[in-house]
Amino acid sequence: MSPVRRLDSMTWPEADAIAPRALLVVPVGSTEQHGPHLPFTVDTEIARALAEALAGGRPDTVLAPSVAYGSSGEHAAFPGTLSVGQEAVEGLLVELVRSADAFAGTVLVSGHGGNAAPLARAVALLRREGRRVLGWSPSGSPTDSHAGRTETSVMLALRPAAVRTDRAEPGDARPLAEILPVLRASGVRAVSANGVLGDPARACAEEGRAILAAWTADLLAAVERWSVSG
Ligand SMILES: [Zn+2]
Repeated sequence: MSPVRRLDSMTWPEADAIAPRALLVVPVGSTEQHGPHLPFTVDTEIARALAEALAGGRPDTVLAPSVAYGSSGEHAAFPGTLSVGQEAVEGLLVELVRSADAFAGTVLVSGHGGNAAPLARAVALLRREGRRVLGWSPSGSPTDSHAGRTETSVMLALRPAAVRTDRAEPGDARPLAEILPVLRASGVRAVSANGVLGDPARACAEEGRAILAAWTADLLAAVERWSVSG
């Protein structure tokens, strides 16, 4: 592990001195409901933790402040969800990466599945423009896609005080592909009244730490492959 270089603690001359040889790492999250037991910031906190781990594993990186809002229209029926929509996410990521041209490249670490499509479109456009950019998202189970065992375990590892264990209850645990048509047409609340897709019952911090370690290894490997690919 190397000390993490953070844009929130740097000045522009310091950035200027290292940017041409450094990758900018940007956590991309959301502010959306995560059931009756998890906070709105889960996706942003997970993206941030993984981006930190990447920055800690590679001395040629600079960690940027997180993008805390995403595309969460399918969660709009749950109060407190704040979404800017797919078009805005795509535009934001395109402009953000264009503005990072001083760096040798940009890694977008996404913690929110709802951002996947606009993230992919933004990365495709930026690459056509000749920019060095990688979009990465953690893998997940289709029967545990939202506020279930995986995300609850990871939050128990990252910030246990934010988990209302006594309020955890199962949601709709059918495979995502099966419920996606209803979910797209009518939102998450139409398939899961409590906002959970999965079952948090057996979540624990130890499993969360193992999941984070596996995701971090995947992310480091993906960045390594990409950074040597020319
Ligand atoms: Zn989430």
